[in-house]
Amino acid sequence: MAKMLSCPCGWTLISPQGVEDVNALIHAKDCHPGLTETEDEVLKMIKTV
Ligand SMILES: [Zn+2]
Repeated sequence: MAKMLSCPCGWTLISPQGVEDVNALIHAKDCHPGLTETEDEVLKMIKTV
């Protein structure tokens, strides 16, 4: 099953390959450097679709 991550900023990631967690963390660090999201919090935003 694919994984989908919708960031509150409008960025959406759909990954069929299981690399969504890495990409999500990269996005959070690149686009939201002021956020203090932990890895767990980012991963909670990922939904299986
Ligand atoms: Zn974002």
